[in-house]
Parts: sequence; structure tokens; C-alpha cells
Amino acid sequence: MSGEHGELPIAARVRRLEERLIAAGLATDEELDEILERVFTSASPVNGARMVARSWKDPDYRDRLLADGNAAAAELGFGAGTRGYLLKAVENTPDVHNMIVCTLCSCYPTALLGPSPSWYKSFAYRSRAVREPRAVLAEFGLELPDSTEIRVWDANSETRYLVLPLRAEGADEMDESELASLVTRNGLIGTAIR
Ligand code: FE
Repeated sequence: MSGEHGELPIAARVRRLEERLIAAGLATDEELDEILERVFTSASPVNGARMVARSWKDPDYRDRLLADGNAAAAELGFGAGTRGYLLKAVENTPDVHNMIVCTLCSCYPTALLGPSPSWYKSFAYRSRAVREPRAVLAEFGLELPDSTEIRVWDANSETRYLVLPLRAEGADEMDESELASLVTRNGLIGTAIR
């Protein structure tokens, strides 16, 4: 990091930003603490994986997830972390693969996917995901047949996406926690099959 704040340690920069938000009346100290606690203690791809596993097990939950992502997240206890934006789940099928990007910055449902990886925020990913998604996926080791349609969803601060990956083989024989362990953060972004 360079520029005007480059001389300050990160903690001091964060504190300065917090003080400005508080001074401007945009947030209270308590609200900021609550947000930071949520992001750093509970935001994890394990949460999104649980929603996927439930969808694979329970077709009614899957329907509810696709109809109203926020309500489906709240059902599993992730309501607080997904407040303030519209959560849309996009389902992969044998014919359609979904991937998410924020072309502007790095919006995504942090409460369900954990802190975003640096590549998600990179200019290369943000620009290439829309221009040449198939090539980007191949670089992640995900080679899709030409017959598979790739849908790229551009997130923003109001609308954020969660990919519902293809149901795992043998899902019927596995319980929900076993299924959840098959789902990765990249699977939830759409840069891995699951
Ligand atoms: Fe963004």
C-alpha cells in the first residue's frame, strides 16, 4: 500500500476511518464493533457450504433458496450477516455453470463465503471474468465442455450472489455435514465445480 496513508500502520488507519464514520454520524462505535466481530469471527465459507448441503438434501429448501436467498440464509442462522443486500442463489445444472464477480470492486456475501480472496479483488479477475470466463475458469483448473453455457453474475453492494454447485455424486448416502465438507469457497464463487 502506498499513497497518503502509507506511513500509518494498518490499525491506526482503521481507527482513523472508524473515527470519521462516527464523527459523520454514519455509524456508532458499537455498530462498528458488531460488524467487525461478525466479519472476523463468523464469516466463513462453511456457512455457504451448509446452505448448499441443505439444498442438496432438501428440495423444498432448495426451492426456497432460489426464490429468496435472504430468507433461506436466515433459516440457517445467517440472517444478520446477509442483511442489507439482496442475496440471490444461482444454480448450476449439467448445461449451465454460474460464476460471480464484482467488476467494480469486490462485493460478495462475506458472511457466507468468508473474506474475499485477493484474486477476487484483482483487476485481472474483475475484467477477464466477464470478457473470457471460459479461459479464466480453465486457469482455475475447471475445464467446461463447449456445450456448457457460462453465466457471469456481476455483483454490487445491493445484489450479491451465491453459486449453488451441482449436486455431488452419492449425495443420497451422505449426511449434511459430509456434504457440506465437499463444498469450497471457490465452488460458491463458481471458480470450482463445488
Ligand atoms: Fe464490489
